[in-house]
Amino acid sequence: MRQQVIHNYINGDFATPISGKYLDVSEPATGHTYCLLPDAEEEDVEKAYQAAEKAFPLWSSTTKEERSNILLNIANGIEQQLEKLALAETKDNGKPLSLSKTVDIPRAATNFRFFATAILHFASESHAMEEGIINYTLRKPIGVVGCISPWNLPLYLFTWKIAPALAAGNCVVAKPSEITPMTAFLLSEICMQAGLPPGVLNIVHGLGAKVGNAIVQHPKIAAISFTGGTATGAHIAKVAAPMFKKLSLELGGKNATIIFDDCDYENMLNTVVKSAFSNQGQICLCGSRIFIERPLYEKFKHDFIQKVAQLKVGDPLEETSQVGALVSEQHLNKVISYINLAKEEGGKVLTGGNRIQLDGRCISGWFLAPTVIEGLPYHCRTNQEEIFGPVVTIAPFDTEEEVVQWANSTPYGLACSLWTNNLSRAHQMSDCIQTGIVWVNCWMVRDLRTPFGGMKQSGVGREGGWEALRFFTEPKNVCIKYG
Ligand code: NDP
Repeated sequence: MRQQVIHNYINGDFATPISGKYLDVSEPATGHTYCLLPDAEEEDVEKAYQAAEKAFPLWSSTTKEERSNILLNIANGIEQQLEKLALAETKDNGKPLSLSKTVDIPRAATNFRFFATAILHFASESHAMEEGIINYTLRKPIGVVGCISPWNLPLYLFTWKIAPALAAGNCVVAKPSEITPMTAFLLSEICMQAGLPPGVLNIVHGLGAKVGNAIVQHPKIAAISFTGGTATGAHIAKVAAPMFKKLSLELGGKNATIIFDDCDYENMLNTVVKSAFSNQGQICLCGSRIFIERPLYEKFKHDFIQKVAQLKVGDPLEETSQVGALVSEQHLNKVISYINLAKEEGGKVLTGGNRIQLDGRCISGWFLAPTVIEGLPYHCRTNQEEIFGPVVTIAPFDTEEEVVQWANSTPYGLACSLWTNNLSRAHQMSDCIQTGIVWVNCWMVRDLRTPFGGMKQSGVGREGGWEALRFFTEPKNVCIKYG
C-alpha cells in the first residue's frame, strides 16, 4: 500500500522539504508506520519566515473584521471536517475516537471561533493625568512569531496558539510535534479553502532539534509560544533570552488531586477516574498524585480500583474503548520504567502495571493497563517527576497543612483539583496551593477567557483570553500633553 505523504505549508501552498528527506510516522494502536512527514531543516524554516515576513504588512493592516471572518471560516472548516479530523487524530495519537470527536477537534474549532470574536472586543487602556495630559496604549502585532506544540493534544494545542497569533495580526511559522503531524497538515488544507492569504500561516514539519530549534534561533522571529516538556522549555529559554524574544512557555506538570471526606462522593469518584486516565494520562492537567483524607481512604481505594480495573483498554477506533494506546514505543517504555521505579521505591501496584497485548490489528500496539500504586511517600521520585502516562499514586493524609505541603512539594505548579463541600476550606486552600489553576469539585472545566498556565517549572506567562492577545501584541504608550 502506498503511504500517505505530509507536506509543509509555506506561502499558501504545499511544499516538499528542501532536503527531499522524509521521516516515518507511526500509528500507536498498531505500532506500524503509516505515513511520511517532511524531515525539514533550517532552510525550510527560512523559506517559511520569508513568506511570513512578506505577508505581514498586508495581514497586519487587514481590518479586524476581515481577519475575524477568515478565522471563522477556518473554524467552520474544522467543524465540517470533524469526522475526518477526529479519525486522523486518533490514528496519529492513539487516543480513543470518542475523545477526538468530543474534545480535541471541537476544541480546535472553538479556539479559532473564540479568538476570531475576541479580537473584535480587544481594547487597550487610556490613562488621563491632571493638567491636560493623556496616555493611551497602542497594541500592535509583533510581526512574525513562532508556535511550537506537543503531541498529546495535537490540533487542540496547535490551534490554541495559532488562532490568537493570527487574530492579533501576526504571521506565523508553526511546528507541530513530529510524532503527531497529521491534523496540522489537514489544517493547512482548511486554511487554503478558508481564504487565509499566502504566507500568513506557515507550517513546517520535522524534528524538534532541527525545525523547532531553527524557529527559536531565527533572529527575526520575535516571539515564541511553546507548549511541551520542561527540559525543552529550558533549552528554548536559554537560546531565546540573548535575543530578548518574547516567550510564552507552557511546560510539564505533576498535579495533585486532593479529596476530603466531605465531598460529593459519586461525582468525585467518576471525575477522578477521568482526571487520572483521560487520554491515557497524557494530558498536562491530569491528576497523577491523589491524596485522600484518611477516614475516606479505604472506601475510595476499593471503589477507585474497581472502576479503574473496569476501564476498557482497546482499539481507539472502537466506540467502546475508553483507554487507547500510548503515543510511542519510547514513551511507553519511559512510563513502564517509572512503574518499575515505583516498585523499587516500595510502592505496591494495586491494579494495572503491565503492558497489554490486544488481538487483531492492534497486536503490536503500545497499550498499558491503567495503573494505581500506593505506599509511596510524597517526596519519592515517582511522586515528584512527571510520568505523563496512565499511572497514579494514592496516599492518605490527615491535615490540611500536611496535604498542602505535599501538593506544593514538586518543582511543578500547573494544576490542582480539590474535592470538598467546605466553602471556607476551598477558598483557603485555593489561596495556598502553588499552581496556575485550581479546580474545586470539578476537573478540566475550561472557560477560554481565563488565564491558563503554570507556576514554577510548569511555565512562564499565561495563555487564554486577553492574556494571549496581550502576548501576541507589543504595547506602546503614547503620552500627549494638550493642556
Ligand atoms: P517536547 O518538549 O519533547 O516537544 C514539544 C515540541 O517541541 C515538539 O513539537 C517538539 O518537536 C519540539 N521540540 C523538541 N526539541 C526542541 C528544540 N530543541 N527546540 C524547539 N522545539 C523543540 O514535549 P512533548 O511533545 O513530549 O510533550 C509532552 C510534554 O508537554 C509534557 O511534559 C507535558 O506536560 C507538556 N505539556 C504541557 C502543557 C501545558 O499547557 N503546560 C500541555 C500539554 C503538554 P518533536 O516532537 O519533533 O521533538
